[in-house]
Amino acid sequence: MTDRRKLAAGNWKMNGTSAALAEIDALAEAHPAPGCEVLICPPATLIHRAAQRAQGTAIAIGGQDCHHEPAGAHTGDISAGMLTDAGATHVILGHSERRADHGETDALVRAKCEAALGAGLVAIVCVGETLAEREAGRTLDVVGSQVTGSLPDGATAARVVVAYEPVWAIGTGHVPTVEQIGEVHGHIRKLLLERFGAEGAGMRILYGGSVKPSNAAEIFAVADVDGALVGGASLKAADFSGIIAAL
Ligand code: PEP
Repeated sequence: MTDRRKLAAGNWKMNGTSAALAEIDALAEAHPAPGCEVLICPPATLIHRAAQRAQGTAIAIGGQDCHHEPAGAHTGDISAGMLTDAGATHVILGHSERRADHGETDALVRAKCEAALGAGLVAIVCVGETLAEREAGRTLDVVGSQVTGSLPDGATAARVVVAYEPVWAIGTGHVPTVEQIGEVHGHIRKLLLERFGAEGAGMRILYGGSVKPSNAAEIFAVADVDGALVGGASLKAADFSGIIAAL
């Protein structure tokens, strides 16, 4: 299957308390029938209420991480099944901030992805090179090995999304050229096709890193860009709306 429905995914990171739920109402009102899938991943404390607020709208709610075990002595962690129970349908895994702040490896991200799939979630698996890796000419090798190491064999087009997020573009206002984005997305697509065949053809590849309403259309026109993972510009419905409209 190659019919890849575009996805606009918002990652609120560690931002937002109860008052931020109003942004979900505003987004739902602005996009009663969006031309793409719309996902908001609020902090864990808001997931349950966000999912209740989004009920009956076109907005899906997701987590920003999950543990690889279903339950147990893991203080402060949240399992994939707990996310589902709270109303989440998606989860972001292996974000570069988690890889850097919590030492997450490809093997751990892969185990988390297996747990997410087992709980019925759609997993958005993040990959991306640092500036030093790009400057050393290692981008395709680094991203390729992250894709290979982080995705489990059971990955399917319906349940797994890859997000290419160059670390140096996240929250910096620096965006790769459309040629650079196209090169990496093409490489990821090739790897997905080689490993997963038709399922790989159908897997969505998002771009993430300083996407704004002003640059979204240009990025979305690049081959194999099937949507965006958006941080800062997803916090306000007015900004995220401009990105959704460009898809
Ligand atoms: C992100 O953190 O996933 C991200 C892409 O952030 P920003 O859009 O703020 O660069």
